[in-house]
Amino acid sequence: MGQPIRTFVGRGNTAQIRLRYVFLVAIVFGGSFLFIFINNGIDILFLNNDINSVWKTHRYEVVSPDDTFTIKTTGCTIPGLNPFSDDIKKFIDRPKNIKPCHQSNISLLDNNETHIWIIKENLQHYYVPHNSNISCCYQSFYRPLAIADISSMDVDDRVKYEACIEFSNSIEVMNEFVKVSCIYKEEILYEQFFLFTPKKPFLSFKEDFLEIPQNQTGYNVIIVGIDAISRLNFYRTMPKTLSYLKKKGAIEFYGYNKVGDNTFPNLTPILLGMKDTDLKKTCWPNMRATFDNCPFIWDSFKDVGYYTALGEDTATLGTFNFEKFGFSRTPTDYYLHTFMHEAERYTGNNRDFNSYICMGNKYFYKVLLDYIGNLAMSLKTSKLFGFFWEVTMSHDYLNYPMAMDNNYELLLRKLDYTRYLEDTILIILSDHGIRWGEIRFTKQGRLEERLPLMHILLPDSFRKDFSFAYENMKLNSHRLTTPFDVYATLVDLINVEKIKNENIKARSASSYAFDRSISLFLPIPSNRTCKTADIDDHWCTCHKGQKIAIDSAEAYEAAASLMENLNTLIHGHPQCSRLTLLELIEVTEMLAGTPYESEIGWREFLVVVRTAPGNGVFEATLRHDARDWSLAGSISRLNMYGNQGHCIHHYQLKLYCYCQNE
Ligand SMILES: [Zn+2]
Repeated sequence: MGQPIRTFVGRGNTAQIRLRYVFLVAIVFGGSFLFIFINNGIDILFLNNDINSVWKTHRYEVVSPDDTFTIKTTGCTIPGLNPFSDDIKKFIDRPKNIKPCHQSNISLLDNNETHIWIIKENLQHYYVPHNSNISCCYQSFYRPLAIADISSMDVDDRVKYEACIEFSNSIEVMNEFVKVSCIYKEEILYEQFFLFTPKKPFLSFKEDFLEIPQNQTGYNVIIVGIDAISRLNFYRTMPKTLSYLKKKGAIEFYGYNKVGDNTFPNLTPILLGMKDTDLKKTCWPNMRATFDNCPFIWDSFKDVGYYTALGEDTATLGTFNFEKFGFSRTPTDYYLHTFMHEAERYTGNNRDFNSYICMGNKYFYKVLLDYIGNLAMSLKTSKLFGFFWEVTMSHDYLNYPMAMDNNYELLLRKLDYTRYLEDTILIILSDHGIRWGEIRFTKQGRLEERLPLMHILLPDSFRKDFSFAYENMKLNSHRLTTPFDVYATLVDLINVEKIKNENIKARSASSYAFDRSISLFLPIPSNRTCKTADIDDHWCTCHKGQKIAIDSAEAYEAAASLMENLNTLIHGHPQCSRLTLLELIEVTEMLAGTPYESEIGWREFLVVVRTAPGNGVFEATLRHDARDWSLAGSISRLNMYGNQGHCIHHYQLKLYCYCQNE
């Protein structure tokens, strides 16, 4: 995989399609199209001070006529939520603080799919005369096979650069990952990273391991993940993308409930069918282990002849890299981590809270979106399983996704115009809603955090040829569903035999009602509860609650139990301060939980406290029976923790640790 790839298969074709696409979009959008490009990707939305004006241009029902319930089944009722309710409206605001990327208007280099060239007119911005002799160094880089130190935390970051190829006007592109540095008077004047999607040879480890035969039915499976967007925040911040999905007949999952606090425990169920805690027993024994032994779903697609891709728009905050060791083997045919790591290191800029949002002159999320579109085109005659995850723009701020709406919609349009969607199952989802900030102190914000967005777009041929599976999926849009179900759904797509009508019929009659993972192509039982779906009570949105007085004995006991649990977590880490109760903010008794058989006189409370030192606000569900208190699920942190936990490198404990001597 480290070898440079000399030819771009189907390059001319792709370029042609691209041109046609640009032309079409230009006609459709007229003036606004030009505007998008002139503004270098900054959203049209910013023109409109009033967010509602965007909504006026999207004519479909934002809220269903009956919004009394989000879902109402025998096993679970989730209250109705309005994305623009009075409680929430005050948090909606166009993001004014997103800064343009470094040098975005004065880039010294530009590229298309085949070449990179110098923009000489822009030399003046670097105090270099327009006709000077400037030379740029084209350096491809790759992830080498050889590993120098297997125990190093940097094992996933390994990289090798090829020798410089100098050019003074333009150069033909021959590689996947490229760094270009321009030099003037022996000093680096400018650096930029470029990402390409050449079609690689189909690698195999056994002789009969071939690409999926052309005559065999199989759909591309593309998962486009956007971090930290609730179902309803998607309505508020990305109306164009949503509207496009609705228009194309995507299925929205109203009762899609998260199963863990943050990204990692909500993605391992999708990609491995396992809880993060299950991994310890199976393939990821400890925090210092890499994930090579874990049976990721992409391996199964690879086995039946798919190309596979794993791409995130960040290296440092990567799902498998943040406080973790990532992969030592290369997990997929197309693996972005190597590129993102270098790009972040040399040209990451515009740091906004947790992440660099720009790679040189371009937003990181846009780098990822372009990559998805280009990779799809490069592999158009093959099959692709791709898992893509955006973090940088959406992770920290409720309203930042507004800045991405146009570009996500454009990606969908591109996949549509190029007819890629005709052979593709597209899943757009998130892992959870925003986990902190003022909105989390509202009841709706609490529910939204537990109800991430998920839309699945099935091609017309699928709806026709797999009609039972399709009808079931529509039914399930109003049932209680989880990331575990997404896994079972993906498993079904490895071999579509399993979802042919006769097989769906047979499988529907079998007993799976209490399975943790149920394929969304089968009817999810109406009596499914959080317990049968294995959703911890703390994350369960089916509950109803009643606030109780914070000076009551139960409230005090519940809070004391929470404090004890918090301190137990950080016990054994002397660098973390012991936490004390500063304020008991809220206690709600939950009314519809399910007691375990052994629990007598069982009650459950949702508790929110503020602690010292550090002013951390924590929320947890505490269960109480006649004998004792216990914690249900994990403890959420409702306000940002910033640098407070810098002294600890454990992805969960970071939330709770306030480092001594702050
Ligand atoms: Zn997340």
